[in-house]
Amino acid sequence: MRNFEYFEPKDVNEALGLLSEHGEKATLLAGGTDLIPRMKKGLISPSYVVNIAQIASLQKIEEDQEGLKIGAMVPLSVLERHPVLAVRYSALHRASGHVGTPSLRNVATLGGNVCLGTRCIYADQVQTWRRTLEPCLKRGGERCYVVPGGKTCHSSLASDTIPALLAMDAKVTILFPSGQRTIPIHGLYTGDGLHPLKLTHGELLTRIILPSLPTGARSAYLRYSFRKAIDFPLISAGFYMEQNEGVCVDVRIALGALAPGPIRLSPLEEQLKGETITTKLLRHCSEEAPKEALRSSRSGRILAFVRRMITHLVYHGLTEVSEPR
Ligand SMILES: Cc1cc2nc3c(=O)[nH]c(=O)nc-3n(C[C@H](O)[C@H](O)[C@H](O)COP(=O)(O)OP(=O)(O)OC[C@H]3O[C@@H](n4cnc5c(N)ncnc54)[C@H](O)[C@@H]3O)c2cc1C
Ligand code: SF4
Repeated sequence: MRNFEYFEPKDVNEALGLLSEHGEKATLLAGGTDLIPRMKKGLISPSYVVNIAQIASLQKIEEDQEGLKIGAMVPLSVLERHPVLAVRYSALHRASGHVGTPSLRNVATLGGNVCLGTRCIYADQVQTWRRTLEPCLKRGGERCYVVPGGKTCHSSLASDTIPALLAMDAKVTILFPSGQRTIPIHGLYTGDGLHPLKLTHGELLTRIILPSLPTGARSAYLRYSFRKAIDFPLISAGFYMEQNEGVCVDVRIALGALAPGPIRLSPLEEQLKGETITTKLLRHCSEEAPKEALRSSRSGRILAFVRRMITHLVYHGLTEVSEPR
């Protein structure tokens, strides 16, 4: 790991000042569970590291008429034990509990999970391994090993919480030197593995807002990974549904880890809205899901077993959110 200068600002203004002063050479450090391994592998080598762990305003969870506001520095272990989340926002509650290990979740933050870098087996290797291959697009080269002939990077955004937050229509607040903006969370992702986040240098994500949900609305999160523990998801899926006497009023289905950005299955959502929920309808939608995911992922291919897992997860997720409590 290269030497760097380390800062621990006490408030957001001091953090923003440091980011502005050092520009592209500075990186934010939250829990460090993603950033530090990347630095050790030489995947990124910032000259200045700004640790935001001491900023008290980023560690709060507050509720008002807008919804539940979760500070970016809230650890995932707090969310997996949070009583309001367990009852009303089960998608995020469950997704938080899937990340890594219990000890990792004590330091890993929600903000860090939302701003996670994309992953790729060809690029996320130690330097000695990487030297055996010509650099790919992400490392300044001209080729992609995942999609031969591809002109964009298809590394995967494998965060557990992102699809859960998308399904719940969460918003994020981003602070920059001259103000702040609050945007729907899907607006944070570009879908391009080279620059997956629509954050510029000098910007800081301060909180995640979960909207107040109508009574009876349900959310769920499911994932598939090769190993049952300490493994990133191969597919992750967030679900939300609101019904009125068995008729679907609103629904959202979001998939993660299949592409450099999360995927909303909007055409399937449109098929469900206004319909009486039946097993036959859910089966039909889940069988359509891989085709829709493939169209939105822009990678041109999804392995056959992954397509089957998408169908499986979408069917079980929709079944769960459509069942009465
Ligand atoms: C063994 C292991 C297993 C893991 N398993 C999983 C898993 O199953 N699922 C999963 O989703 N992740 C997993 N991770 C990745 C990581 O631990 C989590 O994603 C974690 O939530 C990242 O949060 P952090 O606070 O540690 O972020 P950091 O590592 O501190 O930061 C991650 C990135 O986000 C940026 N960032 C952080 N906070 C902000 C902010 N407020 N504003 C703007 N940018 C910010 C940082 O600059 C950095 O680029 C695993 C990691 C390890 C080492
Ligand atoms: S997907 Fe991206 S990181 Fe992976 S080989 Fe292709 S260009 Fe490189």
